[in-house]
Amino acid sequence: MSTQENFIEKDSFRDRVGFISEDGKRKFIYPKKPSGKFYKYRTILSYFLLTILFIGPFIKINEQPFLMLNILERKFVILGQVFWPQDFHLVALTFVTAVVFIILFTVAYGRLFCGWICPQTIFMEMLFRKIEYWIDGDRGQQLRLASMPWNAEKIKKRLLKNSIFYLISFAIGNVFLMYIIGSDQWLNIVTDDPSRHIGGLTAMLIFSGIFFFVFAWFREQACIVVCPYGRLQGVLLDRNSIVIAYDRLRGEPRAKFRKNEDRTKAGKGDCIDCGQCVDVCPTGIDIRNGTQLECVNCTACIDACDAVMDKINKPRGLIKYASENQIANGENWKFTPRLAFYTSVLVLLLSLMGFLIFQRVKVEATILRTPGQLFQLHDDNIVSNLYNYQLINKTPKPINAEIKVIEPTTARIMIPGNESQNFKLGVQEIKKGAMFIYIPLEDLNSGKNYIKVGVYNGDELLDQVKVTFMAPIKK
Ligand code: SF4
Ligand code: SF4
Repeated sequence: MSTQENFIEKDSFRDRVGFISEDGKRKFIYPKKPSGKFYKYRTILSYFLLTILFIGPFIKINEQPFLMLNILERKFVILGQVFWPQDFHLVALTFVTAVVFIILFTVAYGRLFCGWICPQTIFMEMLFRKIEYWIDGDRGQQLRLASMPWNAEKIKKRLLKNSIFYLISFAIGNVFLMYIIGSDQWLNIVTDDPSRHIGGLTAMLIFSGIFFFVFAWFREQACIVVCPYGRLQGVLLDRNSIVIAYDRLRGEPRAKFRKNEDRTKAGKGDCIDCGQCVDVCPTGIDIRNGTQLECVNCTACIDACDAVMDKINKPRGLIKYASENQIANGENWKFTPRLAFYTSVLVLLLSLMGFLIFQRVKVEATILRTPGQLFQLHDDNIVSNLYNYQLINKTPKPINAEIKVIEPTTARIMIPGNESQNFKLGVQEIKKGAMFIYIPLEDLNSGKNYIKVGVYNGDELLDQVKVTFMAPIKK
């Protein structure tokens, strides 16, 4: 065989994906039920995350939802903080920070997110797949059931499984809707006259239908074909990224297991070609071929191979978390300076995101000197400047806002038509207008001065701005 033919033969697995058969039809994957250390940890984490996801819409912080992404009304609540369209700059900044975070995280840690945190993997592997194992049995029984004619047993099992699948999809669809419109409005939809909530009820059914389609039929295709993050792996991963990797130096040449044989003497690698790692793979790939786009880092093949290694008295870790370079150099995983650097940047980015969210002012005040106006010197040696102001209420409640000069304390404000300087600001309401600030000449420097103006709700300072105040040049 020529080198080129050899290469084509070696890489031919890249010409097809696990869920498509030779004749181009959908090939259902029936992965073997995983078990082992990683599966146990993933199960614990998944149930913890599922609990948060399902109770999340009912958690309130400052009377606001824990998380709500109302695209329809352009209202976003993150950790009880309400964001309106006026916060677009913040949303854009957070979005850019999140993109940088995702890129850096993936470059350093590969698809750790996909295997441990992604809702698609958690729902599929920890809810729907477990129900499938419970009703249809493990891989062998599932294969037998699939090839069976439509007899009473198959109809009964399919009906039962799909009914439970739909019920869970309906629950997920409802939770999804709650994250968009909030649990209060959702409660209103399900308890009120249905004819008044046709839109909401239709959305509920559409979401449930989509989830049922994804988890009952579409499955791994969501990760391989649809998910943009999955498709970006080819450009995000490098030879130092942590992936789930087969230690080919240790495993090859693979050969079947023979009792009492010294494999090292026989020149055989540790892989006994049992196919367990392939049978458990939910995306139908053979990780021994190297890193592949289809691998969602679910760790099932690590557990399967570790169990095999235990049985043949070989050390665990023939399939493990490692970078391509670590595999090539025969090293084990270690926290490298490169990982330490990326992790520090990630922590910094997370802190920045947190800072942006929590430092956001409740009322945004913009106060600028009116263009083309300098100052006026009055008979009583008081200087006045004219300003344009704009106040935006970003809190979820109406408030009473008052503008006061913080420094110098001798200053006073006059808002034509609003002597009290008090504004009733409705939710998201914007108030604009003009105002005068008066300051005694003796409290001012010559020419340009800086003063501090605050917006208060009672005694609470909501926002403060520094503005220029022009005064006559003193001789
Ligand atoms: S489970 Fe381990 S020993 Fe078995 S085929 Fe896979 S890599 Fe080889
Ligand atoms: S190759 Fe291993 S880690 Fe990747 S999807 Fe398959 S079983 Fe999961």
